[in-house]
Amino acid sequence: MLTIDALTKRYPTGDLALDAVDLQVPAGQVMALIGPSGAGKSTLIRCVNRLVEPTAGRVALDGVDLTALGSGALRRARRRMGMIFQEYALVERLTVMENVLSGRLGYTGFWASWFRRFPRRDVEQAFRLLDRVGLAAMADKRADALSGGQRQRVGIIRALMQDPQLLLVDEPTASLDPKTSRQIMRLIVELCEERGLAAIINIHDVALAQQFARRIVGLRGGRIVFDGPAEALAAPQ
Ligand code: ADP
Ligand code: ADP
Repeated sequence: MLTIDALTKRYPTGDLALDAVDLQVPAGQVMALIGPSGAGKSTLIRCVNRLVEPTAGRVALDGVDLTALGSGALRRARRRMGMIFQEYALVERLTVMENVLSGRLGYTGFWASWFRRFPRRDVEQAFRLLDRVGLAAMADKRADALSGGQRQRVGIIRALMQDPQLLLVDEPTASLDPKTSRQIMRLIVELCEERGLAAIINIHDVALAQQFARRIVGLRGGRIVFDGPAEALAAPQ
């Protein structure tokens, strides 16, 4: 369970990106976070894993206050939070397999998988995941040989290699065409449901959010303006 209490972020520039946001995401729940550009969506998920330091408020994962952790404990806590990025963040010159395995190292050391030897069970898990997303045959290809949709599949299963309990997903379809965007959203939601993973998916495309996520939270000006099932959200904003 992720519990966010009165989370506030004011950037040094004076922008109030989050204004005392309260939010709970139960274990295993997939939630879409929607809102116009500048609403605070990226800031919210980055405050959860403290890529951005909140100005005030509390973020707790299973009762552990993440905002109070020192750097060692924070590193361990981050291993339980998988991150999926808009621009995939693959290491282009490494193979697909090396990129997937790098998920084991956490997202601060993607490139380090190049010289690292991984245990056999990690390699087997990586193959199973590649097979699950239809990319087993691409394992030895370099990442820069992949299409956008294939890259995002690799980004997704790299995050799963961390065995996270929570996925933080920032605009996963922003660089993809509409058909690939639907495939990627469906894949993220299916994988979360198969594994009982909670997720916060930032997505500005309201129709995609409605089609795939059961719960939608709308953010605007750093405040929650909607929280409910997809059916309750009438028309795209
Ligand atoms: P998005 O809408 O996907 O969040 P943006 O274009 O708003 O993307 O932001 C891109 C990057 O610039 C992000 O890392 C964000 O934190 C940073 N950023 C956004 N707004 C500002 C700002 N006013 N001043 C400094 N950095 C900003
Ligand atoms: P969204 O992801 O919904 O587009 P952001 O979290 O990127 O929203 O931005 C929320 C607000 O915070 C915007 O006003 C943006 O300009 C500002 N902002 C984001 N990142 C930074 C930053 N690094 N420095 C200053 N202001 C920022």
